[in-house]
Amino acid sequence: MGAVSLKGVSKSFGAVDVIRNVSVEIAEGEFCVLIGPSGSGKSTLLRIIAGLENVTDGEVRIGGRDVTELAAKERDIAMVFQSYALYPQMTVRENMSFALRLKHRPKDEIRRKTDEVAQMLGLEALLDRLPKELSGGQRQRVAMGRAIVRDPSVFLFDEPLSNLDAKLRTQVRGEIRDLHRRIGTTSVYVTHDQVEAMTMGQKIVVLRDGRVEQVGTPLDLYDRPDSVFVAGFIGSPA
Ligand code: ADP
Ligand code: MG
Repeated sequence: MGAVSLKGVSKSFGAVDVIRNVSVEIAEGEFCVLIGPSGSGKSTLLRIIAGLENVTDGEVRIGGRDVTELAAKERDIAMVFQSYALYPQMTVRENMSFALRLKHRPKDEIRRKTDEVAQMLGLEALLDRLPKELSGGQRQRVAMGRAIVRDPSVFLFDEPLSNLDAKLRTQVRGEIRDLHRRIGTTSVYVTHDQVEAMTMGQKIVVLRDGRVEQVGTPLDLYDRPDSVFVAGFIGSPA
């Protein structure tokens, strides 16, 4: 259902090659981290997986189906960004249930699902609040809740913690990991922070200038970096 397959994917903006011949297989249920320096193409690759960006070459499959052939509502992909734009005039409950209301799900199902996810994320007491009444960490949790409620087959995270302070980052990182353990949704998580990558990734893809520099488990990268670049990047302070 949620396996992600990239084969020979390239993407240019005008004359600039941003993604170069990237092939990556992400198994159903796997937590994959994409790491690389700023400008290495992480966000572009994530947008390509989401079907939001056309490729210049290659193919992208989700659950065996070509993303370009899937209608938007069939894509079944949820994205969580660093700028977690919540609807300011809606309560936490309304923000979280928005996608289900759009789909005209039955009211009791919407309530049950929203309550369940709120409980999972420790948001039960905040359901009637407005975004402006929340802390940054709470808002980020609502943004995740909004994505989880939809039951997507793939989660895409683009540096979701970069607006949080260090302590909160560690906490929310743990929460995302627990969440993945619990619901096991295929996830692609973009970061430029190697501590985040090493602690969260089951598989890590190192990007450099739009190319895959190395793919491996955290241990592979730590023990057997393929290049000075990977060794330096994985070993450098955040
Ligand atoms: P990262 O997320 O790793 O920082 P991005 O995927 O955002 O990298 O960007 C990779 C490269 O592609 C950068 O050089 C960026 O300037 C360029 N780029 C991204 N989006 C566009 C666009 N819409 N038009 C032109 N260039 C772009
Ligand atoms: Mg980016």
